[in-house]
Amino acid sequence: MQRRSLRRMERRTKIVATLGPASDSPEVLRRMIDAGMNMARLSLAHGPVEETIERIGRVRAVAEEAGRIVGVLVDLPGPKIRTASFEREVYLNAGDDIELVQADEGATSDWQSIAIDYPDIVAYLREGDTMPVGDGGIALTVETVHGDRAVARVRSGGRLIGRPGMALPASRFPLDSPTTEDLRLLETVCVAGVDAVAISFVRSGADVERVRQAAGPDGPMLVAKIETQEAVDALEDVIAVADGVMVARGDLGIRCALEDVPHYQKRIIAAGVAYGRPVITATQMLESMLRAPTPTRAEVSDVANAVLDGTSALMLSGETAIGHDPVNAVATMARIATRAEREFDYQGWGQSRGIQQVAENRGAPASVRITAALSAAAWRAANDAGATAIIACTNSGTTARAISRFRPVIPVLGVTPSLRTARQLSVGWGITPIVVEEHATTDDIVWFAVIAAVETGVVKTGEIVAVLVGSPEEPVRTTDVLRLVRIGGQAR
Ligand code: PEP
Repeated sequence: MQRRSLRRMERRTKIVATLGPASDSPEVLRRMIDAGMNMARLSLAHGPVEETIERIGRVRAVAEEAGRIVGVLVDLPGPKIRTASFEREVYLNAGDDIELVQADEGATSDWQSIAIDYPDIVAYLREGDTMPVGDGGIALTVETVHGDRAVARVRSGGRLIGRPGMALPASRFPLDSPTTEDLRLLETVCVAGVDAVAISFVRSGADVERVRQAAGPDGPMLVAKIETQEAVDALEDVIAVADGVMVARGDLGIRCALEDVPHYQKRIIAAGVAYGRPVITATQMLESMLRAPTPTRAEVSDVANAVLDGTSALMLSGETAIGHDPVNAVATMARIATRAEREFDYQGWGQSRGIQQVAENRGAPASVRITAALSAAAWRAANDAGATAIIACTNSGTTARAISRFRPVIPVLGVTPSLRTARQLSVGWGITPIVVEEHATTDDIVWFAVIAAVETGVVKTGEIVAVLVGSPEEPVRTTDVLRLVRIGGQAR
């Protein structure tokens, strides 16, 4: 991959954009990457896996041609019950009655009849059941059930398109995750070489472990979607075993009290950062841009506040998958994030949360403690020496994430011989991934990493960089070396 030159200070908060029919053309994808998309998300809930594999191939080809590192995240559908596709957008009016049937092969939904993708669904419905549809703006109440169809009254109306989810009573429809279908899809997307997989409706660390076991030792990065009260209650248990987390506000707002969502968001972000995991804040961030060229003031504030909460990444869903101008949605999000970052308290974050998190690692395994202690030393040393960048030489990405926890004001370069690690780092706060060749000694790793940093234009001759690196000679690779390097030997 050609190494592109970087501007001195890139946006730190990353952008994950969901791909769909609106972003299928290579031209649109290229413009989305140029506008700031760092990771592409593909939701398996909305179409056949073959379509997802095609989209993965397309975004990989476009990123490669652009010389950019773009990660690919595939979202497993989980146990969520969805409708058959609304091929065209419909508007349901409050007070109208609508039919509910089971979706047979090839079924579609429309304004008169919703086909539900669940075997014998009608037999499970009861009069009086209330069901939010989509992200909860629309609600239906079952009025009558007769044989193979039910009739529901629209309590609150709104627009529907694609395959929205339906939240049915948890007592009759348990949310076991991962499902057998999830594990089957996981195998297919692992073969396709995805960088990350998001797990829907996680309730405990054990759910994540089941996916990890199925994916095997070289499996993708696992992102736990926090969208149930159980997951919020078991947050540390889930985060400890996941590689990343998503604040999945759509379902979270259905399964928890809506007014809890902003506070859970802050709690999930803080816990994710403490564990050195990337946190993706998702859903309805620029929802009005599905149709409008500019977002609402409330949406702009929401995106900016997520940046100030310290989120690693911001996610676009329908805005880029089915919206009228995906490129504009990415560009708008990038502008809001860049502006919000000017207000971010980098020093305060590092001094309080960074140092405190390292102290909390005292009971962790030795390798985790060493990486934590050394990343704290790198953050302090970079500050004290007036370094202009921190270089994390990393195989798995852990070292780069450990230093990213401090939210340093200077660039963090994640230098790695693994293209997959680089793609996974594309969602790490403030981390610019760079791919280099593999080297056998600590001296060589440092030397070539610094050369790569100079070549990308992030640092210049005469400046100081802090370099974190492991000893490749050690049997268990841990980040155990910190060097302050004067580039060209001429510190100012
Ligand atoms: C969410 O619920 O917010 C979410 C991101 O998941 P999905 O898009 O699968 O509904």
